[in-house]
Amino acid sequence: MRKNIVAGNWKMNKTLQEGIALATELNEALTSDKPNCEVIICTPFIHLASVTPIVDKGIIAVGAENCADKASGAYTGEVSASMVASTGAQYVILGHSERRAYYGETPEILKEKVLLALANGLTPIFCIGEVLEEREAGKQNEVVYNQLEGSLFGLSAEDFSKIVLAYEPVWAIGTGKTATAEQAQEIHAYIRSVIAKQFGKEVADNTSILYGGSCKPSNAKELFANPDVDGGLIGGAALSVADFKGIIDAFKA
Ligand code: PEP
Repeated sequence: MRKNIVAGNWKMNKTLQEGIALATELNEALTSDKPNCEVIICTPFIHLASVTPIVDKGIIAVGAENCADKASGAYTGEVSASMVASTGAQYVILGHSERRAYYGETPEILKEKVLLALANGLTPIFCIGEVLEEREAGKQNEVVYNQLEGSLFGLSAEDFSKIVLAYEPVWAIGTGKTATAEQAQEIHAYIRSVIAKQFGKEVADNTSILYGGSCKPSNAKELFANPDVDGGLIGGAALSVADFKGIIDAFKA
């Protein structure tokens, strides 16, 4: 059975002290009013070891926003998947459009990162999505197909089934523009059909596919109500407990 998930991506925000305060406040809010979905917070590397012990593991899981494409060694400034796992983190965002666009992360590099994450017991939250010109040219299906093929088609069905996908139209990230519920459902259903063809219907039915891009308490319910949208990857709204909890509560009746 696939899970409903709301995952926060803090990006490069919050000092260590501010991050601890945010995680503490979220933990308090969700222990007194339990969520109906899995909740994940993905934080900068330096927050991980401090945040994992202060959240209730049964309610909030922790993830990183990236990991290296190498296992260990002379790669100054990099953080490996095994280092991430050693903090108690369970997830790692890979292939975020900001990493692809600003740090030159190619499908081949991302393939290595996915393999290392899986080898170290981390669940990748693998991001795919088209830019505005591609959407306007009607190429969104082709773009997400190529992103899936380039980094994930080489996996066994067993390994693929450990992955969470996030469809994030780049034109909706941090812009205030959200895909309509119909646009989200249409492409999520397409993504699931691609998975079914490559890895089988059972794997496709069990894959959580999150929507990301200017998701807020006011639009989360409509987006998550779609049969192929299994929750959200949340950027800006994850930095406020009220907004993040408002999105989590979209899974309540
Ligand atoms: C993101 O960066 O993953 C994201 C969805 O950002 P935002 O919610 O701010 O659009």
